[in-house]
Amino acid sequence: MVIDESGPMRPLPLPTDDSAPYWEAMNRHELLLQRCLDCDRVVYLPAPMCDECQSFNLEHFVSSGRGHVYSWTVVHNMGHPAFVPPYAVLLVEVEEGPRILAQLAAPNGDEWERLEVGMPVRIAWDESEPEQTFAIFEIDSDASDAA
Ligand SMILES: [Zn+2]
Repeated sequence: MVIDESGPMRPLPLPTDDSAPYWEAMNRHELLLQRCLDCDRVVYLPAPMCDECQSFNLEHFVSSGRGHVYSWTVVHNMGHPAFVPPYAVLLVEVEEGPRILAQLAAPNGDEWERLEVGMPVRIAWDESEPEQTFAIFEIDSDASDAA
C-alpha cells in the first residue's frame, strides 16, 4: 500500500485551447495576459475574443506581476481539504488593469492581518502541486507608496 504523505491535492485546471497557454506560462513563472490588437484592451481571463470590441485579434504578453490589493477576504472555514484555513484570497488589480483572484502567500501564516486596500503586492508562485504552478501574491514591502 502506498501512503501519500503530501496531503490532499488541490483541484487542478482542465485547460481549454484558449486557456492552455495561460497555464503553461504559469509553470514558467509567467502571468500571461492578452491584449486586443484592435482596441488595446487587456483581456483576462484567457478568452478567444476581446470582451470590449469582439475582435479575435489578440496577442499574449507577460504581466509585470505587480499590482495592489483591490479587495480581499479571509477564509476561516474548510471548503476543500487542500486549503487549510485561515487564508486570504485577494482580488489584485495588476498594473496592466485586470483584477486577478489569487491566494495571499503566507509563509508565517498571519500575513493577512496586515492587509489593507491599495497595499502593493507582487506575484509569487505556489509550486505545491508538481504538475501545475499557481499564481499567488505576496505583500510587496519594497514598493514605495507612490507605486
Ligand atoms: Zn478589442
